[in-house]
Amino acid sequence: MNSKHILIVEDEDKIAALLKDYLEAQGCSVSRLNRGDEVVSFLKQKLPDLILLDIMLPGMDGMDVCRDIRKFSTVPIIMITARVEEIDRLLGLELGADDYVCKPFSPREVVARVKAVLRRAQPAVKDVVLKAGSIVLHEDTRNVTIGGRELRLTPNEFGLLRLLMANPGRVFSRGELVSRVQGYDYEGYDRTVDTHIKNLRRKISALLPGKEIISSIYGVGYRLNEP
Ligand code: CA
Repeated sequence: MNSKHILIVEDEDKIAALLKDYLEAQGCSVSRLNRGDEVVSFLKQKLPDLILLDIMLPGMDGMDVCRDIRKFSTVPIIMITARVEEIDRLLGLELGADDYVCKPFSPREVVARVKAVLRRAQPAVKDVVLKAGSIVLHEDTRNVTIGGRELRLTPNEFGLLRLLMANPGRVFSRGELVSRVQGYDYEGYDRTVDTHIKNLRRKISALLPGKEIISSIYGVGYRLNEP
């Protein structure tokens, strides 16, 4: 993570200082903001490699900040929430964040997430195009279309669809999907895979009504059907 620039947006001094220490120990440079309403103007001056964004912030809520950032930038964002129950709700809101961590967290866990998200954000070397029936996925532009119409996906939904499309017919367990898409193993996140898959199916079926593209295999996991 040498020379990566991370922006921490967190009003709790202790937490921000702890994260800053850990990230700097990994060779990152760290900037910090206390208020949500300062983020967009900061980003217009200098875009970091990744943002750690707390939800409860003075000035502007972290969710609104995330939405505003996504209007002009795909910079990787990891949201910080105070409650694990909030994660499901956040996933449903489709804010376009790349990952979520829940307080209280260990700084090591956050550093692992930051590494995983930065690794995923590396641009692909060449464009790989995956096809499944009328679904076309471009890896470098992260663009997905169904019959020429754009399918708008969150980073996690895109990652899941890419993995399933690259391995049609293969059944993936939830744990496997978490570790291959998110880049780490953490059992508690199995159920968030279900939420991502549910959202992904809903979006696909809006453009491909009546077709079951992703099947759940009872007690095992998920699979992409050959169209
Ligand atoms: Ca806060």
